[in-house]
Amino acid sequence: MKRTVERIFRGAPEHWVGNGFHVSNYFPSATDFEKRMSPFFLLDYQKPENYSPTTRRRGVGTHPHRGFETVTIAYQGSIAHHDSAGNGGIIYPGEVQWMTAGGGILHNEYHEENFSKTGGIMHMIQIWVNLPKKRKTTAPKYQPLTGKEIRELLLPEDAGKIRVISGSYENLQGPALTFTPVQMLDIRLNPNARLRLTAPKDFNAALLVLEGSIKTNGSREISAGEFILFKNDGDEIFAESSEPSTLLFLSGAPIEEPLVHYGPFVMNSVDEINQAIEDFNNGKFGYLAD
Ligand code: MN
Repeated sequence: MKRTVERIFRGAPEHWVGNGFHVSNYFPSATDFEKRMSPFFLLDYQKPENYSPTTRRRGVGTHPHRGFETVTIAYQGSIAHHDSAGNGGIIYPGEVQWMTAGGGILHNEYHEENFSKTGGIMHMIQIWVNLPKKRKTTAPKYQPLTGKEIRELLLPEDAGKIRVISGSYENLQGPALTFTPVQMLDIRLNPNARLRLTAPKDFNAALLVLEGSIKTNGSREISAGEFILFKNDGDEIFAESSEPSTLLFLSGAPIEEPLVHYGPFVMNSVDEINQAIEDFNNGKFGYLAD
């Protein structure tokens, strides 16, 4: 049965994250999204934007996270990162970094040096995926998902392709290991293509149109930058593209637990937030230079 479209909306006016990411926030700024998009907690979208060449570092300096995972998808432009667990690397276009902050990590996120020097289009998304209470303090780790690991499934009738980041599509399994069921699909549709997606009725589900335009489940034409939240009243989503389109499909089992958020911490209680602040101030997240 088809899911009803619950709401179509654009992100909040853009703001700067550090000096390198000019993002529009879709949630949690939208009302009720803590529950409606769980297990996803936050979505910041940097639409394609040209950055002039510079020798200055652009991005966001060392900062903490606890209680969730950050998923960074690079569509265009390259992002370098380092963390207090000693990991570091570069997220190239088409790649994803799935970082588990868990019990606590410090990291920084910058435009990769060569990209900064030549300048160019940065197009990326960061999503925060909440962790269930019993996994909030799991050991920090990160999964670099390279272009090779994220295999592509070509859709029939030259409709386009699907890259499975996590969860599965048909019989293709995505590489990301997750703590709760999370489906994340990078979808590219050719013009006049038709697509069928499924998500169990009790999973929250949404589509973000990054490029192009689509109609879905009886909706009006939905264009780039618009986000579609579906009701939990069915398991099927159909999309038809009018032009070449890039979509991000998010679906997952909601985490039905209390949630308290303060800046870079997403916990279950005010006490746990206070503890996170105290631990951070006492250097328990480790050390990382900027
Ligand atoms: Mn961060």
